[in-house]
Amino acid sequence: MFLESKPSKKNKTGWVEVVCGSMFSGKTEELIRRLNRAKYAKLSVEIFKPKIDTRYSEDDVVSHNENSIRSTAVDSSANILLLASPADVIGIDEAQFFDDGLVEVCNSLANQGVRVIIAGLDMDFAGKPFHPMPELMAIAEHVTKVHAICMQCGANAQYSYRKTDSDDLVLLGETMEYEPLCRTCYNFANSIKKEHYLSEKEIQKSIKDQ
Ligand SMILES: [Zn+2]
Repeated sequence: MFLESKPSKKNKTGWVEVVCGSMFSGKTEELIRRLNRAKYAKLSVEIFKPKIDTRYSEDDVVSHNENSIRSTAVDSSANILLLASPADVIGIDEAQFFDDGLVEVCNSLANQGVRVIIAGLDMDFAGKPFHPMPELMAIAEHVTKVHAICMQCGANAQYSYRKTDSDDLVLLGETMEYEPLCRTCYNFANSIKKEHYLSEKEIQKSIKDQ
């Protein structure tokens, strides 16, 4: 589907690919698979990820199945442009944690002939689009949505359900805090949570009223 051959310097064409999905959907594995193929094709590869993602070692993109490729952690999307040496292929992991400037950075790299492969969460724990992923999907030539398995019923899962009560948008994922759920199970889990929250409130109120 994607060209692996090195385009001639004269008319080098770049493009943008997005791999998105919920937590545990294999986004990073797919990013690494594509980057490894590019490496086999003797293309130069660079990887960037946001500094915020400190789950694993500072300088590696490490996926959940422990495939890894060396990468550079940067604190803003502008630094990708500054640090990107003339690479044929640039991978960007955890793209949802970058600033909105990433859209222009990716366009600019693709316009210069770079193949840009972006991996990121398309929705936050509340099921809302996780910016700048929607914008990146819009400018991309190719979008692939990957799925996890629903931990409740085994269907394809597209939601990252947060088991804890924190409202912090940037709570990094581990199995203890999140589980992938399908639409039906996600809605059910949220309705239970809401009921529980309301009854908690009622209890607090009745305690106060006494
Ligand atoms: Zn389900």
